[in-house]
Amino acid sequence: MTIIALGLASATIVLKFMDDVVFATIRMKETFRVAHELFIIYLREMDFDPARALHMGNVFRRGGQDTLLSEARRNAAASFRTCGGTPQLDGAKKSDAKNPKTDTKPNGKSDDSSKKPCPDFNAGRPCKKLKPDGTCVFAHRCNQFVSDKGPGGYCFGVHARCTGCDYDAAKKLRAPAA
Ligand SMILES: [Zn+2]
Ligand SMILES: [Zn+2]
Repeated sequence: MTIIALGLASATIVLKFMDDVVFATIRMKETFRVAHELFIIYLREMDFDPARALHMGNVFRRGGQDTLLSEARRNAAASFRTCGGTPQLDGAKKSDAKNPKTDTKPNGKSDDSSKKPCPDFNAGRPCKKLKPDGTCVFAHRCNQFVSDKGPGGYCFGVHARCTGCDYDAAKKLRAPAA
């Protein structure tokens, strides 16, 4: 809106640029985080173009979209860490995860017969306690303490606490129920 209001570029150029960079990226099933990072990368491309020839009307058509998109994915993984911890690319979690004690890597599975929710799953970290095949020894269930499931009761819903627990807020506890 600022660019158009100041007359720096016409709406047809700005909107086409936004559609190519942001909305087309989302249509390709990327997250809004990646689209946001890609948008910033394109602004940088125009800013630092040595020939001063790139602008919103031609920067996308110039090519190199794949390279810039993979850079945007890396930036999104590094910048948006809602669960804390080390940056992880989607799809690279299993092979990138470091296991300090053994060389076993998490295979993404968990033992859902376990009565204990996995602390790493709930914190958004790679699981540390693994069986020899890489299956987590704990259940990948929510470890939010709640008041209505007996002593030490957990929410135990099929979600990670760090991504938001939908249990009745009035029954959530900071410490295990006695
Ligand atoms: Zn786990
Ligand atoms: Zn929960």
